[in-house]
Amino acid sequence: MKQRTLKDSIKLEGVGLHNGKNVNLCLNPAESNHGIKFKRTDLDVNNIIDANYKNVKSPILCTRLENLNTVSVSTIEHLMASFYGEGIDNALVEVDAPEVPIMDGSALDFVEAIRQVGAENQSSPRKFIKVKEKIEVKNESKYISIEPLEKDLIIDFEIVYSNPLIRTRRKEFRLSNGDLNSIYNSRTFCLYKDIDQIKSQGLAKGGSLENAIVVKENEILNDDGLRSRDEFVDHKILDCLGDLMLLGHRVFGHIKTSQGGHQLTNTLLRKFFLDKSHWEFDSQEEKNQKDSKYPRPIAVNA
Ligand SMILES: [Zn+2]
Repeated sequence: MKQRTLKDSIKLEGVGLHNGKNVNLCLNPAESNHGIKFKRTDLDVNNIIDANYKNVKSPILCTRLENLNTVSVSTIEHLMASFYGEGIDNALVEVDAPEVPIMDGSALDFVEAIRQVGAENQSSPRKFIKVKEKIEVKNESKYISIEPLEKDLIIDFEIVYSNPLIRTRRKEFRLSNGDLNSIYNSRTFCLYKDIDQIKSQGLAKGGSLENAIVVKENEILNDDGLRSRDEFVDHKILDCLGDLMLLGHRVFGHIKTSQGGHQLTNTLLRKFFLDKSHWEFDSQEEKNQKDSKYPRPIAVNA
């Protein structure tokens, strides 16, 4: 299986969820082994930020990446999930603000744009990360683990809310045959009672019913209600998929989480990657390298 990039550049625009300003986004093709990188076009220097889990800094309410020069980009997770699901390995994402536009709060616009231009295979093989050993992280009632799984990714997510409408819901999503479109289509959500506190931190200035589901006790404040019964848990799976893309490679593994989120996923990835006994690459290239170490068979006539 080869690495893939976009066939052409794609321009999108929208509002930044946290700063409330208009943002221009351009997704560009990139060469093999480039990975996903962000470029802040509103800055002239030190403006490249690698989409890597090591660059995640204070992921409050969204995933935020920061480079060594403290240049950052926020709210990358829904776009990263689109790259994961649509099989894009390499892209240069130009953005003229410190955050990716929130669009409608889901990954739908990104996915539609990617599908419209299409993707193409590149010369280098894709590398997969294979989980060798179960790793887990606990933080009070929050839990996340990753364990070995053959040639697939499962995200088993449980949400637990005291809110009577969201409540407890669990879903197991398997990448190879799960309904990816319902994951893409799910919007970010918040509780009405938390809005004042979120805004007092200077966040969510661009937040509205156009880009988030707002739940007030037993009621959904958005006119059209939910897009699906599972929209809340689907969105948490979308966030998790986007955060996993920060490994730089797709992963064969089984994630189980209760009340997971950006911070917990990042803690897991750091712990997982720290020790080479936890993982290995599973790629054709690697197999060929291993095979070439074996002595060649001696010719019968020699
Ligand atoms: Zn999200």
